[in-house]
This record gives sequence, C-alpha cells and structure tokens, in this order.
Amino acid sequence: MTLVSIVKSGHPKLDIAGSSSEANAGRAEGKRIFLFDRDPHLTDLSQKLKSLGYEVTSGPTSGDGDKCLAAVIHEAADPGLELAASLAPDHKVIVLCESKSFEFKLKAVRLGVSAVVGLPVDLIELEGWFSDFDRDQEAESKVLIVDDDDIVAEACAFALQQRGLRTETLSNPLNTGQVVDDFCPDLIVMDLDMPEANGLDVAKALRLSRPNLSLPILFLSAERNEEIQHEARQIGGDDFIAKPVDLTTLTDKIYIRVSRARDLRKIMERDSPTGLLNHVNFKERLAAEVGRSRRTGSPMAVCLLDLDHFKAVNDTYGHQVGDRVIQMFGNCLSGSLRSVDVIARYGGEEFGVILLDATPEQGARVLDGIRRNFSNCFQDSDQGPPTVTFSGGVCGLDDAATVEGLLGAADEALYEAKRQGRNRIVLHSQLENP
Ligand code: GH3
Ligand code: MG
Ligand code: MG
Repeated sequence: MTLVSIVKSGHPKLDIAGSSSEANAGRAEGKRIFLFDRDPHLTDLSQKLKSLGYEVTSGPTSGDGDKCLAAVIHEAADPGLELAASLAPDHKVIVLCESKSFEFKLKAVRLGVSAVVGLPVDLIELEGWFSDFDRDQEAESKVLIVDDDDIVAEACAFALQQRGLRTETLSNPLNTGQVVDDFCPDLIVMDLDMPEANGLDVAKALRLSRPNLSLPILFLSAERNEEIQHEARQIGGDDFIAKPVDLTTLTDKIYIRVSRARDLRKIMERDSPTGLLNHVNFKERLAAEVGRSRRTGSPMAVCLLDLDHFKAVNDTYGHQVGDRVIQMFGNCLSGSLRSVDVIARYGGEEFGVILLDATPEQGARVLDGIRRNFSNCFQDSDQGPPTVTFSGGVCGLDDAATVEGLLGAADEALYEAKRQGRNRIVLHSQLENP
C-alpha cells in the first residue's frame, strides 16, 4: 500500500515571481486529503488532484498532525476497511471500491464511512465530496469589541473565545474603520459612551461604506433612554445589552446573531454553487482594491477567465456535468491562488480574479500555470469530458483609469485569447491596438 497525502496547501504563498510551484501554492488553510491506495493507477488520480490545486505529499506531514479534509481509502488496500473504521471517528472517510452494491454501502455506513465512490474514479464525483466537506468546515466567526473599558472588553472577549469565536478588542473607537477593514468581523459589539467618540456616531460612520451596511452591531450601554435606543435601531443597531454585562446573556445573543449574519452574508455576497464572490461584490472589491493600490503604489492584475467551448460540454455531457465542471474550476482557482487574492464567479462560465501585489505579467504567468494544470485533469476520464480548457485576459492599473475601464481591458484581452484559438492567457498590453 502506498500512502499519499494531498494537502490543499496550508501556506498561502503563491510565488508571484514565478517558480515552478507557483500554481500549486494554495489559499485554503488546512485542506488536506489523505489518499491511501494500493493501485498504481491511483497515482494518476493524485496527479489530477494536484492539477486542481491540491499539494500531494507522501504521507502525513509532521507538525500539524493528521488534520485533513478527507481520507480516501481504496477498499482493496491493506488494511483498507479496518483503516477506514479507525479513521472514521475523527475524519471524513471516502472509500473507493469496484462494487457499489447496496450491501457494501450498508457495511460502509456501519464503519462510519461518509461516502463511497466507484472505480475507476470519477474525478468530478470525488471532488464534489471534497467541496461538500469543505463547506461543512465553517471558518471561525469573528467578533470585534469596541469599548474604552478594557476590563469589560477583555471579559467579553474571553467569554466569546470560550464559545469558539475569534475576537479583537479595540479601546479607541477612532480606529474602528481601519480595524473593520483588516479584521473583517462578522459582528461588532459597541459601547455607546466612549470619550473619543459616541458609539452611535461610530456605527453611522461605518454604515457610510456599502460593505458595512449589513454588518450587525450590538450596543452595550448603561443608557436606558428610549430615544437613544430608537436612534440606534434606525441605523441598524441590532440590540441593546445593558451594562453591567451579564456574560451569559451577551454570549448567547452574539452567538445566535453571528451565525445568522454569516448565513445571510453568504447568500447576499456569494454565488451559491461555487461559494465564490458574486458579480456585484466582485466589482465592489475591485473598486476598493483599485483605490488601495493607487494609494499604496502596489501593482495588481485584473483577470477575466472563461471556459472554452462550454456550450459543447453541456450539449455532450449534460447540464449537471457542466455545473460540476464550473464548481471544479472555482475550486481549482481557490486552491491554486493565495488567500489574499480575490476570486469571483463573474457570470455563467466566466470568472473574475484580482491578484494583489502582482504585475499583470506576473498574474498572467500564474494563470498560465493554472491553465496548464487544469487542462490536464480531465484527460482519460471515463465519465466526464476528455478535456476542458479556459482562456484568460489580464490587465493592470496602467491599462485603464476606472473600474469599468479595467474590466473592459481584461475583456478585450480575453476576446483576443478566444480569437487566437483559446486555451491561452493574453495580456492587454500585448494587444496591437489596445
Ligand atoms: P467560448 O469558448 O467562446 O467561450 O464558447 P462557449 O461555448 O463557452 O461560449 P458561449 O458564450 O457560446 O456559451 C456559454 C455556455 O456556458 C452556454 C451556457 O449554457 C453555459 N453556461 C453558462 N452558465 C452555466 C451554468 O451555470 N451551468 C452550466 N452547466 N452551463 C452554463
Ligand atoms: Mg465560454
Ligand atoms: Mg462566456
């Protein structure tokens, strides 16, 4: 039996300068898959998963232990099902087997197995399970506590951490805007009476930015004045908690609101099949990043990617396979890029990517690595399309003055990539009459 562990890279460090591993350094923290196989043809499977942005190593790496997104075990491997049973209490286990009989599935269920996938492996099906498991692994929710009283803030923070939430405390409300941008909280607990600024004004100032319109704010106050409470509700303050704070009530209220806020935000901002940003939110992020890059002078690459001849994929293999290929492409991008990069489903089979601190040339090189990997991962598959490719257009801040201009420039380059025969990345600066 060979033991191969696949890590959807724990260290988001895309080598923008262009080493051979540049397309494989992923963004997804701690997404590791163990693949226990005994069949040499499964080596090919690990290659394909690599192409989708997973990093393949020969066994669990030391340090961060045996945390993994899924353990994939070949039924015929030795110890096979025994191994599945021993891993099942702590891991999602997928068993690969020749027979998908119901009897076998019953046996697998009793062992605690999460999924059974037939051989030869259908990559689309296997990767679909990984995506499901990944979505189940909720990232920690984040709460920002703004209060000039350090003791109250620290006590709240400690109580919330005990419930598994991540916290940040801030005693000077004048820094709230900056901390919200950097920490991206799911909820803010805000004191009303602070010497530097009134909590209501701070909340109003936050609401002047569109991305903060739906950010839940809970006010902490000794103030029982109905009028002030009414004003706070008008600007979207979710609730009042009376000081002195009863920590159990506070953590209960926060806990419920945080999970509801996350669910709502996901629906509003994200494209549900891929979990990526949607069109509207991509453009908002682009506007913010363009502003930031122009201020700091750091470069950025704006990219539009479009799957090639996708209508034919749908026509030949059906819409369902088409949908899964779109999801896989999204996963491939998020597995291959850094966590700082912005990835969106721009529409249909078109994706938008913003590579931060990267020149358009560096961005094009990174995308070209992903393009090569992605075009390899469908070959020789029995159930899915023989090959799927994508084309991309890339531009940088020098190519246009506005957000719309940048998207237009990336689109022109994408159009040229299609015109030249597809399955390629074109820079806007390379166009003859840009
Ligand atoms: P090109 O290489 O020029 O991009 O060719 P194409 O066939 O990909 O482009 P075209 O714009 O003609 O068709 C896009 C296809 O993508 C048609 C549409 O049905 C399909 N598509 C768009 N969104 C989805 C989706 O969510 N699921 C599926 N299965 N197909 C989709
Ligand atoms: Mg297309
Ligand atoms: Mg298209």
